[in-house]
This record gives sequence, structure tokens and C-alpha cells, in this order.
Amino acid sequence: MDKHGHLIVVSGFAGTGKGTLMKLLLERYDDYVLSVSATTRAPREGEQDGVHYFFKTKEEFEQMIAAGELLEHAQYVGNYYGTPKAFVDAKKAEGRDVILEIEIQGALNIKAEYPDAILLFVVPPSAQVLRQRLEGRGTETQEVIEQRLKRACEEAEGIENYDYIIVNDDLDVCVEQMHQIIKAAHFSPLRRREFLNQLRQGLQDFKK
Ligand code: ADP
Ligand code: 5GP
Repeated sequence: MDKHGHLIVVSGFAGTGKGTLMKLLLERYDDYVLSVSATTRAPREGEQDGVHYFFKTKEEFEQMIAAGELLEHAQYVGNYYGTPKAFVDAKKAEGRDVILEIEIQGALNIKAEYPDAILLFVVPPSAQVLRQRLEGRGTETQEVIEQRLKRACEEAEGIENYDYIIVNDDLDVCVEQMHQIIKAAHFSPLRRREFLNQLRQGLQDFKK
């Protein structure tokens, strides 16, 4: 395994269950750390600054962009969202895998810059279940729910850019699948570069 950690990008339509899944995955396995994003959207009930998001004004967010403090950023349904760079770099250097729970434009930017990132897309078992979950969560107005469902329709067109899709039907099964997929993805030669380079160097020495 390479000494530095890898980026694990998790995307999925609003209401699919990404937040719920991430919480369970992190409780169950200490292999991962979750990046806390900055956003200009208002906190939902129970959300804490610095825990769920760093809540920023538009001006503060634009300053972060200008100062190069974000690894990626995107606009989603009228708000900015972005990944603070310093935390991610520090954790990767410590050898930890860092999970970015981000939308599709940000995910594609990460993929372009970090070809060894692991891209997972979580889907609901059906479109109807998605609507039920989003409405059942009860955190958005009906108008925002409709905007997010429309956005899901657009996002669905980009799923083939991801490495894996994971169906969030039974939560427990889904968490286990996610962990197993990430574990297996680490065996790709893309993510064992340091080891392969060492091995190649050793083989070269035979030629001397
Ligand atoms: P996201 O972070 O993708 O927007 P949430 O984690 O907030 O979604 O989940 C949306 C709603 O669906 C929540 O009310 C959550 O409790 C519920 N939920 C999540 N996963 C499941 C599941 N596997 N089965 C049933 N309900 C789920
Ligand atoms: P929510 O408002 O439901 O918390 O998040 C809305 C969308 O923004 C979700 O798809 C979520 O994954 C995405 N998101 C959260 N943080 C970031 C981020 O730092 N960058 C990007 N590009 N998207 C993010």
C-alpha cells in the first residue's frame, strides 16, 4: 500500500442517504476521515458549524476561493460548496484515506486532478424511494425538494464517470459493500505506485 492516503469521493442525489451512510461507516471503521466542507447554505436544524459544515457567507466563501484554500468548489442549487485543502493534504500525508462527500461537478474536478481518487456514486433503490426519503427527512421546503429532484435528474447523466455505484437499500448491507469496495480498490496498480516503483527499481538492479 502507498504510504500516503487516498481520496474517496462519495456522491449521490440529495436524500439518497449519503450522510447517514458516512456516519455509520465512520463509526464502524477507523480507516477513514471525513472532510468537512465549507458552504454558504443555511444550517439545518441540529447542524453544527465545524462539524457538519463550515458555514460561510458568500463573501467569506469567495475569499477562500481567491486565497486558494479550496481543493475544489462548486455551486449546487444556489449555494457554494467547497473542500478545504489544508485538512485533506495533512491527513493524506499521514497515510489516512479522506472521504469527500461532494456533488458531481466537484467530483469530476477531483478526478481530473487526482487520477488515483476512488469515485463512488450512491443511488437509491428507485426514484420513488428517493422522493420518499427526501420528503421524509423533513428538512427542506417542498420547493427546495422539487429543485433537488430536478438536479438529481441532471446528475444521473454523469454517473458513468464514477468507478462504482452502490445501492443504498438496506443501510447495513450498503455500508459493508462500501467498505469492501474501497478495500478492493486499493489493490489497483494506480494506488500502489510507490510499491511498484520500488519493485521495478529492484528489478532494474538485476540488469547491472
Ligand atoms: P443525503 O445525505 O444523501 O442527502 P440523508 O443521509 O440525509 O441523505 O438521508 C435522507 C433520509 O433517508 C433520512 O431521513 C435518512 O434517515 C433516510 N435513509 C437513509 N438511508 C436509508 C436507508 N437505507 N433506508 C431507509 N431510509 C434511509
Ligand atoms: P446538502 O446541502 O444536502 O448538505 O448538500 C448538497 C450537495 O452538495 C450534496 O450533493 C453534497 O454532496 C454536496 N457537497 C457537500 N459538500 C461539498 C463540497 O465541498 N464540494 C462540492 N463540490 N459539493 C459538496
